[in-house]
Amino acid sequence: MSGRPAIPIPADLLPGDGRFGSGPSKVRPEAVDALAAGAAHYLGTSHRQAAVTSTVERLRSGLAELFALPDGYQVVLGNGGTTCFWDMATFGLIEDHSLHLAFGEFSSRFASVVGAAPHLSSPEVVTAPAGTRPQLPTGAGGRADAYALTHNETSTGVAMEVRRPDPGGDALVLVDATSAAGGMQVDPSQFDAYYFAPQKCFAADGGLWVALLSPAALARPKALAATGRWTPPFLDLSLAAAASARDQTVNTPALATIFLMVDQVEWMLANGGLEWAASRSEASAAILYGWAEASDIATPFVADPADRSPVVATIDLDPALDALAVAGHLRANGILDTEPYRKLGRNQLRIGMYPAVDPGDVSALTACIDHVAARLA
Ligand SMILES: *Cc1c(COP(=O)(O)O)cnc(C)c1O
Repeated sequence: MSGRPAIPIPADLLPGDGRFGSGPSKVRPEAVDALAAGAAHYLGTSHRQAAVTSTVERLRSGLAELFALPDGYQVVLGNGGTTCFWDMATFGLIEDHSLHLAFGEFSSRFASVVGAAPHLSSPEVVTAPAGTRPQLPTGAGGRADAYALTHNETSTGVAMEVRRPDPGGDALVLVDATSAAGGMQVDPSQFDAYYFAPQKCFAADGGLWVALLSPAALARPKALAATGRWTPPFLDLSLAAAASARDQTVNTPALATIFLMVDQVEWMLANGGLEWAASRSEASAAILYGWAEASDIATPFVADPADRSPVVATIDLDPALDALAVAGHLRANGILDTEPYRKLGRNQLRIGMYPAVDPGDVSALTACIDHVAARLA
């Protein structure tokens, strides 16, 4: 920070930690300290040796425990983040036809990746206006061999329950859980691929993708290869699964990211697991939405309380109050990344409420917004 903020916020109102980004998001200082303490025997060492493979093993077994994965499910990881996994799914998980629920930037992006793939038929895309959630059309998906769902649409702050659209059918259920995984409860029997990246609820850096894969999801890339489909090796889920089974990755991963993610997974497990982690986000969400509903200057953007995300809140501000100006004044006081998702184009704040964020800090944030708003009015 340089200079005195134009609207200084008194120290007793400020949150203990000012990071409210929706991704990258707050990394717990304890995890950074642990990384520094262990660095000499970990950072800058071979990813094919025990110091690193044992850390990957802790990550994979920790995630299997956190999500209570049934027998036969596998934790698979690799480089490239969720965006890379979309391409892998396009080659390895969709046979010909997919049905997508698209209700924001991220869910739409996967649908357009699939739409551009010359080896697949045009996907069926069910859309809904920003701030709402599409319903599966009845009788839809008769032709679909994969459903693409998004547990939490990070661009709009809309969440949906993960449930098989067609229980007992052969279609795979692929769930983009990038911002939900670790902060929302989920039943593994309801998905075949639950994929995410470390920079949201897992409070680490970006760059990796992680996927929890069912036996049916693990079998599909092999079946497609047997039909003669060519897959770029880097996007081959079978190769990634084989490397992961040895607690390795196909190519060199970011070791710090893996370390920070393990720290977060083990922190969640030590405190009570996924139920506890989700309850942290729910507590933050109750504070933030409760404040917005009672406020004269703020309103939750998502009208239906049942669709409101517990991990990413979108809060519309009174038109007389410029949200970017509010976010700028917060930033000048060390409260970071409350700006809206740029392409949504609304006068709103977007707040990450991942498990690493202390609900008490969310409460402090509301007082800081009120403080800035009163002085801008
Ligand atoms: C952040 C995010 C992504 C993109 O993740 P990358 O790791 O940056 O590719 C995709 N989907 C959702 C729902 C996200 O929140």
